[in-house]
Amino acid sequence: ALTAGIVGLPNVGKSTLFNAITQAGAESANYPFCTIDPNVGIVEVPDTRLQKLTELVKPKKTVPTAFEFTDIAGIVKGASKGEGLGNQFLSHIRQVDAICHVVRCFQDENITHVSGKVDPISDIETINLELILADLETVTKRISRVEKMAKQKDKEAMAEFEVLAKLRDAFEEEKPARAVSFTEEQEKLVKGLHLLTSKSVLYVANVGEDELLDADSNENVQTVKEFAKSDQAEVIVVSAKVESEIAELDGEEKAEFLEELGIPESGLDQLIKATYQLLGLATYFTAGEQEVRAWTFKKGIKAPQAAGIIHTDFEKGFIRAETVSYDDLMEAGSMQVAKEKGKVRLEGKEYLVKDGDVMHFRFNV
Ligand code: GDP
Repeated sequence: ALTAGIVGLPNVGKSTLFNAITQAGAESANYPFCTIDPNVGIVEVPDTRLQKLTELVKPKKTVPTAFEFTDIAGIVKGASKGEGLGNQFLSHIRQVDAICHVVRCFQDENITHVSGKVDPISDIETINLELILADLETVTKRISRVEKMAKQKDKEAMAEFEVLAKLRDAFEEEKPARAVSFTEEQEKLVKGLHLLTSKSVLYVANVGEDELLDADSNENVQTVKEFAKSDQAEVIVVSAKVESEIAELDGEEKAEFLEELGIPESGLDQLIKATYQLLGLATYFTAGEQEVRAWTFKKGIKAPQAAGIIHTDFEKGFIRAETVSYDDLMEAGSMQVAKEKGKVRLEGKEYLVKDGDVMHFRFNV
């Protein structure tokens, strides 16, 4: 399963946020594909379409889809030099598919800042630099392997060398790999390097509890937003402290509390949605009388693979998928009417699954 790693300097609010995630989090029993690990929090993906489908189909049970956040503790300056914890930190980042980078934007004299003052850009750069240096090392090692062959005009080596040199130049200017543009062919080579700075990033600006409503007047938030633009990254604003309070509430209490605060959606829900996007994930639904359920898939997969997410047998024996888009189904008002209107398509093995598809798989056992 795809997972996003939560990183940040010490004392920025990572644990507070991660605890909110695990508290609000889903029972792993419902999600057997998820990891059981204290550093992994499973979250359910908020999706109003699932409620609407439930009202339409009136199933016995409704199951949201879920994915994982991994808490990556222990960034230290010098991690890229490969000392103890630092090494571990980098290898944990290597294993995640996207990065949620928590940045301290709240002021609180009682909470020490590792570098003495709240300075989000310097914080961000401290971590990014460690990742860039680790990537520089990866690339330099690789260069020493292909350079000779490239000089001897070996075609493949020359192509790879060009990519590596471009990356090295970027890293030396302290730019991440995601800021470098490549051709499609080159992208494949870059992918094979498993670089840390190729991963997409979301900056999570952690503001004080009284700043949530007017976060844009927080100068630190503004600077993070500007920085993120130059780093092809998005920013969301949360108050980890408020989230830890919200996480203790159940559905109705939560709604009331959010209304009191004057915010339409909790920061955690925003974080979940933004991360879902970041990971390139989308949702399809199954809607039967027994169960209405949302399923996560990676954009770009075809119908049989989507079926395989439910059960490997569905993929192996895949025949076709009865498919209707969520919008068409809602407009029709029932599956029956959608069928009569010709909105339910029979899709085959080559069908690219779309976000919001409601699917029923036919398969041979
Ligand atoms: P970590 O080291 O990044 O995991 O940081 P923690 O989550 O342990 O937070 C460090 C301290 O900052 C804790 O005492 C938190 O209660 C506090 N903290 C976290 N978020 C906020 C916030 O939004 N406002 C204030 N005032 N304190 C916060």
